[in-house]
Amino acid sequence: MIKPKTEEEIELLRENAILVSKTLAEVGKAVAPGVTTKTLNKVAETFIRDHGAVPSFLGFEGFPAAICASVNDVVVHGFPSDYVLKEGDIVSTDIGTLYKGYNGDSCYTFPVGEVSAETRKLLDVTKESLYRGIAAAVAGARVGDIGYAVQSYAESFGFSVVRELEGHGIGREMHENPGVPNYGRPGRGTHLVDGMVLCIEPMINAGGKAVYLDRNGWSVHTADRKYAAHYELTIVVRKGRAEQLSTFDFIEKDGTIKF
Ligand code: MG
Ligand code: MG
Repeated sequence: MIKPKTEEEIELLRENAILVSKTLAEVGKAVAPGVTTKTLNKVAETFIRDHGAVPSFLGFEGFPAAICASVNDVVVHGFPSDYVLKEGDIVSTDIGTLYKGYNGDSCYTFPVGEVSAETRKLLDVTKESLYRGIAAAVAGARVGDIGYAVQSYAESFGFSVVRELEGHGIGREMHENPGVPNYGRPGRGTHLVDGMVLCIEPMINAGGKAVYLDRNGWSVHTADRKYAAHYELTIVVRKGRAEQLSTFDFIEKDGTIKF
């Protein structure tokens, strides 16, 4: 039995979600050819700490940085490094906060300069698959409805869904039940109830679904080395329509940056 969050808890999760959303936008402003992923990490960590929060990924099960910076064929859990971003790359930045005892967790995949039409399609379809998943996350539905919505949309473009990783509940812990796979069958899995807070996070590969774990023990790569995209938002299951706690509006509606 998964206990829904109280409205007080949801407000604390919202504060985290907004901070993560703003942090993603700060990182987005810094994304450009010639910039290292370590620089993006620094931007995020500084912004989070300046707002009185803690970057929750740093030290999480030994993770060495404040953000995951996953470039091109890295699906998730890339280490920020001295790698210099170049035109045509994509970089997914996954960011977590711990603030007032609750967690935030969201991710955006940024294009670096101009990317190919195929890459643009991967980004657009992955993001739209997230919104389809959110639309399915209503009280009375089940976790499989979310996965089905994500999977059926992404696969209709010939892309594939990573199976090894999934979304999750969030609260005092970054990862809580239920797990939220990005594939599934309608009407199956955990029942969704009003007040349940979930991170939905499609990880979509341009090529095949197979992945492998890097020697660093963390980073997940596509087996065929084709690009992967990853977007994540935190939502509250509600009757009729899910409520988004985190948002990409700070990135996309700023007026100066266009992703
Ligand atoms: Mg995340
Ligand atoms: Mg997550």
